[in-house]
Amino acid sequence: MLTNKEIENIFLESEALLKGHFRLTSGRHSDQYMQCAKVLQYPHFTETLCKDLAERFQGEKIDVVIGPAMGGIIVAYEMARQLKAKAIFAERVNENLELRRGFCIMPEDNVLIVEDVITTGGSIKEVIDLVRGTGVNIVGAALLVDRSAGKVDLGVRTESLLSMEVISYEEEECPLCKENIPVVKPGSRKI
Ligand SMILES: [Zn+2]
Repeated sequence: MLTNKEIENIFLESEALLKGHFRLTSGRHSDQYMQCAKVLQYPHFTETLCKDLAERFQGEKIDVVIGPAMGGIIVAYEMARQLKAKAIFAERVNENLELRRGFCIMPEDNVLIVEDVITTGGSIKEVIDLVRGTGVNIVGAALLVDRSAGKVDLGVRTESLLSMEVISYEEEECPLCKENIPVVKPGSRKI
């Protein structure tokens, strides 16, 4: 099992997690910025993280791993590889998440739901509802990052590698602005 520090270091090293002084898309300021896709750029990091997450479901029978597109696709694939299960994804068609491309879940399947990062859990809850509608057994939910710090209740057993609250401030109240630290808009930086 990885320690919390080792997990955080993988996010920092891949620059999925940036620390500094950021202007978020909401306009609020924060001392950290998360772009989970950046860690999934590196198959060796994805493998290490998913191995740890998969170990938490050791002893459970899992036939299918499913996540919502786009964030859940790579996580579902790597988790399924490690659990020797099938990986599928749900994708948005107009408003709703659906199974397309001939993907299906059989009534006897044991299903693990995955997502790279949740804040309000909107997409993953939709996947849970979609899967629940088929009447199969939901083993649980596996997340790389829970940005609600455990506040979002998915109604199923939930495991996350990194649990961290989004702390942000209005510009006028931002302690980093008060220290005259230059503010960065994430994504505008050329690396
Ligand atoms: Zn600020």
